[in-house]
Amino acid sequence: MQEVTFDPARLDRDSRIYVAGHRGLVGSALWRHFESEGFTDLVGRTRQELDLLDRSAVFRFMADVQPDVVVVAAAKVGGIMANNTYPVDFISENLQVQVNLLDAALDERVERVLFLGSSCIYPKFAEQPIREDSLLTGTLEPTNDAYAIAKIAGILQVQAVRRQYGLPWISAMPTNLYGPGDNFSPTTSHVLPALIQRYDNARAAGDAEVVNWGSGSPRREFLHVDDMASACLHLLENFDGPQQVNVGTGDDQTIRDISHLVAGAVGFTGETQWDLSKPDGTPRKLLDVSTLFESGWKPKISLPEGIEATVEWYRSNQATLRT
Ligand code: GDP
Repeated sequence: MQEVTFDPARLDRDSRIYVAGHRGLVGSALWRHFESEGFTDLVGRTRQELDLLDRSAVFRFMADVQPDVVVVAAAKVGGIMANNTYPVDFISENLQVQVNLLDAALDERVERVLFLGSSCIYPKFAEQPIREDSLLTGTLEPTNDAYAIAKIAGILQVQAVRRQYGLPWISAMPTNLYGPGDNFSPTTSHVLPALIQRYDNARAAGDAEVVNWGSGSPRREFLHVDDMASACLHLLENFDGPQQVNVGTGDDQTIRDISHLVAGAVGFTGETQWDLSKPDGTPRKLLDVSTLFESGWKPKISLPEGIEATVEWYRSNQATLRT
């Protein structure tokens, strides 16, 4: 049993930071943020350059690069239908990727690791807002339990490394994220990019109505991914502890309200219908963000502002969209 003795401090701007998953929604935002904060030694590898499912390749890479900091932002992610339809892929790929990265980082005794997960790790009927200590106190939401179990295993592995090796590794669990670089596929994306795409297409086509999934009554909290990136750096520089830290805004709204915001942002004036044959998922998922806020961080981007910016990004990046 090791004690972790670590005083978080401002990271040297020449620290070598490996962002695993640097082309994804979160990883690319982290990259932009680290650059804008003056970091000069960022390391990223595309899937073609390094297959994170290849354990020996990950070990070789980590031994070559010797990062000071590793951020695990690489994961197979998707919206409610993708998670519900391909649970094997979500549990198996995520477990393998994170175990390879965490084991290789441990082998090199990387000092600081930030493991990222998701708010779906919490029980379906957790008391709202969801405190960090409600982890493992109840049954998970079945539409994404495979993904959630993989992420819970990652949190436990980080805690185990702290206990067994005394390394100051940490975990952060973001709420629903959105922003530039998101997956806009109508079938596999999360709700916000799906709505942007659907309403913008309907506006362009002059359609009289759009049909969204579920009842519209579930409540969700949304954080712009640039705020997520700034929270990650804040945690690396200001926080140490075994418990995963929730990252969110502290506010939520119904999917129906969100759809009105998106319709307004793209200029769609028709009707919205709801397809009750599609799953609603968990009824509410609002994080208690007091640990993070009390450590001195707050989000900067309001939801209407973030949606406007994402619509603009979506329209000007049609050629390279992930769909
Ligand atoms: P979740 O937060 O894990 O449930 O993931 P999602 O972001 O995929 O879905 C959030 C909520 O939005 C669920 O209640 C969905 O039923 C609802 N929703 C409405 N329309 C859509 C859509 O077109 N795509 C997705 N992914 N969700 C939608």
